[in-house]
Amino acid sequence: MQDWLIAILELQKLDLELDRIENILLEGPKQAAAAKQRWEEANAAVTAAKQVKQAADLEIRRCETEIKVLHTKLADLKHKSQRLLKMEEIQASSLQQEMMTHAIADLETAQLSAMEALEKANAAIASTEKRVAEVMKEGGELMQKLRTQKAEAEALKAELTKQRPSLVQNVDANVLRMYENARRKKNSMPGPCVVTLIPGTKDKEPSCGRCRVHATVQNVSDVRAGRLTQCPTCGALLYQE
Ligand SMILES: [Zn+2]
Repeated sequence: MQDWLIAILELQKLDLELDRIENILLEGPKQAAAAKQRWEEANAAVTAAKQVKQAADLEIRRCETEIKVLHTKLADLKHKSQRLLKMEEIQASSLQQEMMTHAIADLETAQLSAMEALEKANAAIASTEKRVAEVMKEGGELMQKLRTQKAEAEALKAELTKQRPSLVQNVDANVLRMYENARRKKNSMPGPCVVTLIPGTKDKEPSCGRCRVHATVQNVSDVRAGRLTQCPTCGALLYQE
């Protein structure tokens, strides 16, 4: 292997490691934000369950009050009806009593379903509160892990950044310029930009190990001769192992 190739491959190895670290440093805050969102969602579920419980409580009390009022009215009506003499008055009172009895039955049904809703809400509160506790525990552990990861990544980044100039020094200026140009495309084409030329087969021409586009005949012969060769499509530096 030629010296220029060894030097640039060493620099690339370090740069790829720096890319990996940069990714870790970018991913950490995203993971933390996702954990915070899970926590907020879990809390919102508790609040929603408590609101359902509150509504059910109110409904139960409303029914209770109204049932009590109707019972009093009904007793009063029955009491008064004993003194009625006219047939139409007796009939009117009896109709009124019947309507009140119906209204009480309806309220009792409503109260019963509110009690069922309350029971469900209590179960929902218990399970959503359990979820909050789990999410908090997971979040705490994750934050701890992310802090350690960040500290390690930053220390390694500082160390590699310090080492980089000495590796750059070994690289030929021309090679370095081509390498830096090719590396600028790392967002659209991540990974190495000093790559092997993929050998051709019976039915496939040789191609660039980075962009997979076919290499020219000239490219192939240059690579075989160990000359500095750039992929005409993506700018990758090509070599043969
Ligand atoms: Zn290419």
